[in-house]
Amino acid sequence: MRPSEGILGVAFGTRADGDARSNAAVRKRIADELGVSPEWATVTQVHGDHVAIVEAPGHHGEADALLTARTDIPLVVATADCLPVAVAGRRTIGLAHAGWRGVAAGVVPALVEAMRTLGDEPLAAEIGPFIGPCCYEVGPEVVEAVGGFIGETRWRTTSVDLGAAVSAQLTGLAVTVAGACTYEDRRYASYRRDRTTDRQVTVAWLP
Ligand SMILES: [Zn+2]
Repeated sequence: MRPSEGILGVAFGTRADGDARSNAAVRKRIADELGVSPEWATVTQVHGDHVAIVEAPGHHGEADALLTARTDIPLVVATADCLPVAVAGRRTIGLAHAGWRGVAAGVVPALVEAMRTLGDEPLAAEIGPFIGPCCYEVGPEVVEAVGGFIGETRWRTTSVDLGAAVSAQLTGLAVTVAGACTYEDRRYASYRRDRTTDRQVTVAWLP
């Protein structure tokens, strides 16, 4: 795994990196590649808006975002079509997992708010690979839940652009969006394509 060219301190993995959730050897290898600690902070993702404030490595219960001011604790989320969203502040780093339910719940604005509560200000954000509007066919309930951002699939049905939806929630921030669509690009696990339990991990850390 390689650090992103965008904001400092984030790396978006692929399926080829292996299952970092269950395999300590995979975690160690990824940590070595990134030059970060193998003692990560993780959560059980539940498509909500809770932000775990991280002051120690390990598991932080049910949450869909993590935030830390510590330079020695990498934050990790696992995705397969949902958006991994890294938000860099001056003295903190945050990482969220957001599908349409997370967008509707406002997990990314909740992360930004938590950063401000810690006395920091977000500077930039980067969204990793997710299922694009090219492939994310949805029904009207999802369009309504995320507030529009309607797109069209390659097969000409209604979709939503969750990257645009999250970018709109990050008003005033420089947002970089990764180009890959997880559904089309087979380097990535895609739940929608394969109904798989495989996930790619995103690692974010404060340099
Ligand atoms: Zn696509």
